[in-house]
Amino acid sequence: MDKIMKMLLVEDEPKMRELIKIAFKKENFKIYEAIDGKQALNFLKNDDFDIIILDIMLPEIDGWTVCREIRKFSDVPIIMLTARGEEFDKLFGFELGADDYIVKPFSPRELVARVKALLRRAESKNGEKDNVIDAGGIKINTMSREVIINEKVISFTNKEYELLLFLCRNPNIVFTREQLLLKVWGYDQYGDPRTVDTHIKRIREKLGDKSNYIITIWGVGYKFEVKQ
Ligand code: CA
Repeated sequence: MDKIMKMLLVEDEPKMRELIKIAFKKENFKIYEAIDGKQALNFLKNDDFDIIILDIMLPEIDGWTVCREIRKFSDVPIIMLTARGEEFDKLFGFELGADDYIVKPFSPRELVARVKALLRRAESKNGEKDNVIDAGGIKINTMSREVIINEKVISFTNKEYELLLFLCRNPNIVFTREQLLLKVWGYDQYGDPRTVDTHIKRIREKLGDKSNYIITIWGVGYKFEVKQ
């Protein structure tokens, strides 16, 4: 992996955070630390991450709830940390959307291996190689933030870009306007859902012959689907 991966590490115990940071020291990761669930959700409101390490027993908001909240707007890989003796209900965890879990105490090397495996899985799932997403001919370079359609760079405003990127990364899922507002504009902005509509309208205009990839689900919201 040449790309620097952004990791959100959610763990209230300083020693455990230190251990994990040391484990990833020689790897290509930039680690952001959150010490409780509330902080974690705040981070996610402002930023995208490649992977999340999420402790279950957390002050404020526990790991389960954080996981469930994240899944409302993101499919970022999540690996849960659980203490030995702590009841970990595997099925419950996977139902909430956790991708993997590891029991404390764990070997740092194993955690690194698990994280890398998860990232590889996520990468092949999204078909995202070298920071370029190709969603049915809509090519998005997430480093340069360029959108290329039919060999032409199309200019998007910041929010249009983010909205399009989010939809392309999460194809075939219906999102409500509120969910899109949450993801693209941030949690605490109780924005007007029509903001989403006007942005979708403008994005569609720019997508040209690919405008029908964004499908309106009447009474619900939108979904991105590549039409063959
Ligand atoms: Ca803990």
